[in-house]
Amino acid sequence: MNKTVNIEGIDKDIKAILMPYLAVNSETATRGERNGEAFLLDYFNGIPYFQENKEYFGRHAIPDDALGRAVCWAVVKGRGDDTVILLHHYDVVGVEDFKTMHDLAFQPDLLKQELVQIAGELQPEAREDLLSGEYLFGRGTADMKGGGAIQLALLKRYSEEADFKGNVILISLPDEENLSAGMRAAVDLLIELKNRFGLKYVYAFNSEPHQRKEKRKGLLSEGSVGKMLAFVYARGFLSHVGKVFEGFNPLSVLSEIVTRTEISPSFLDIVGGEAAPPPTWLYLRDNKENYDVSMPLSAGGCISILTLDSNPTEILNVLKQISLDSFESVIRRIKESYSIFCNSSGRKLEPLPWNPSVITFDELLKEAYQSHGEIFTAAYRSKMHEAGQKVKAGEINLMESSFLLVDFVYNYISDLSPRVVLGFVPPYYPNVSNLLLKDRSEREKNLSTELSDYCNQKYGQEYEREYYYTGISDMSYFALKDSGKIKEELSHNMPLYGEIYSIPLEGIEELSMPCMNIGPWGKDFHKLTERVCKLDLYERTPDLLNRAVLIMLDQK
Ligand SMILES: [Zn+2]
Repeated sequence: MNKTVNIEGIDKDIKAILMPYLAVNSETATRGERNGEAFLLDYFNGIPYFQENKEYFGRHAIPDDALGRAVCWAVVKGRGDDTVILLHHYDVVGVEDFKTMHDLAFQPDLLKQELVQIAGELQPEAREDLLSGEYLFGRGTADMKGGGAIQLALLKRYSEEADFKGNVILISLPDEENLSAGMRAAVDLLIELKNRFGLKYVYAFNSEPHQRKEKRKGLLSEGSVGKMLAFVYARGFLSHVGKVFEGFNPLSVLSEIVTRTEISPSFLDIVGGEAAPPPTWLYLRDNKENYDVSMPLSAGGCISILTLDSNPTEILNVLKQISLDSFESVIRRIKESYSIFCNSSGRKLEPLPWNPSVITFDELLKEAYQSHGEIFTAAYRSKMHEAGQKVKAGEINLMESSFLLVDFVYNYISDLSPRVVLGFVPPYYPNVSNLLLKDRSEREKNLSTELSDYCNQKYGQEYEREYYYTGISDMSYFALKDSGKIKEELSHNMPLYGEIYSIPLEGIEELSMPCMNIGPWGKDFHKLTERVCKLDLYERTPDLLNRAVLIMLDQK
């Protein structure tokens, strides 16, 4: 039976949802996110279907969350088990960029008036888009209450269908722009709902905005890049600046590693003709607190690495090899310099004691345990708890707390020769792509082509398919392979794992389902000129997303 869902006039619904949704200030990692939750529950409460079926929507509290946030969900139950998930996040990034226009960031009409006044100061493309009237400006318009409003409007339409085939779950999350606490909690929620309502998940759709390489071509993403934050801790050997050859400056080896890894192709991950953007360093500093004439004892940095198929173990191996090469090269340089120094000053050339040494955080822990046993374990546990509490209280960040723990472990290490220690800092985003899923049905495989053809015929608008959304998204938590192996790596080499950060890895592997991002065309996310294309927002994207949902629920 061919069946369609009437989405006529949905543009008005979307607008009516979006304006108040935008007006709710739900800046990420603030108490404001709770306002987003209140808005959503209010919205569900106002729909007759949910008034009659109160058990079909609710909030799922994020366990142990300092801000008391929750994931909001609603399910339209139709015939059969097949279920499609619509996912979006309700947090938005801060509005520092808006300077004196903070208050207008969440009110597109007023913001527009104000932007027109300073149009001359905007980038040419932003100015042109502003004056064309074809774009809606404001924080969250593109990223991603625009896509969220489309999903909310569609859900209401599905709830009004008398004989709907399949089920649709809408999940709206906080904290996407931060540590994805919302999505990590949503994994448990999805498993719970699946069991409670006897659902079978067939597909997940996210509606983050897409960016275009070509103006005429939209983008459908069948996956999302993975992201890891690796740390490199360099331990030196302290010496007075007048006796440099008696010491080992950790900055020398750390900076060599930075030079060799920053935007380095060594981590290049290629899948289906797509490549992950190369890595970049997000943090770098020594542990010196005051000026004196000694070298710093240790230094550390964090490098963000995007992946398409690599897992944490593989990344750590690459980083280990580069670190070892860097260490060797630094020692070689020191020896050369030392030899020139001795020759020119008539000193006797003594052999220098330095040897390259690179270990993982796990190996460092084992070493400490070997010399101090349970005394160390107990002390470390309590220190880890203390570090976690400090992070929760906002006193230190995740990177600082990781280094604090490495420094602490060093109190129990007897071999104090220079070394490099490697590990991970939260958060971790697994890479995900339909291309890597096994046993895909023809319908799944053809979905993006079918959607592109549909849109081309109806709107003269083409869509390209990519296998990875490079903007980092919560789709990362929709599929996983080798969860056991990844868990082992993270629990051993991510100092804070299990204390204040964890990922339901087995749950994600259990859920593993295909996913696609279908969102409106947006520009300048996170900036003052964030905007979304109105034609996509009100017409094309809801039509396309509706089509995709109905295809996957076998209604087209
Ligand atoms: Zn987003």
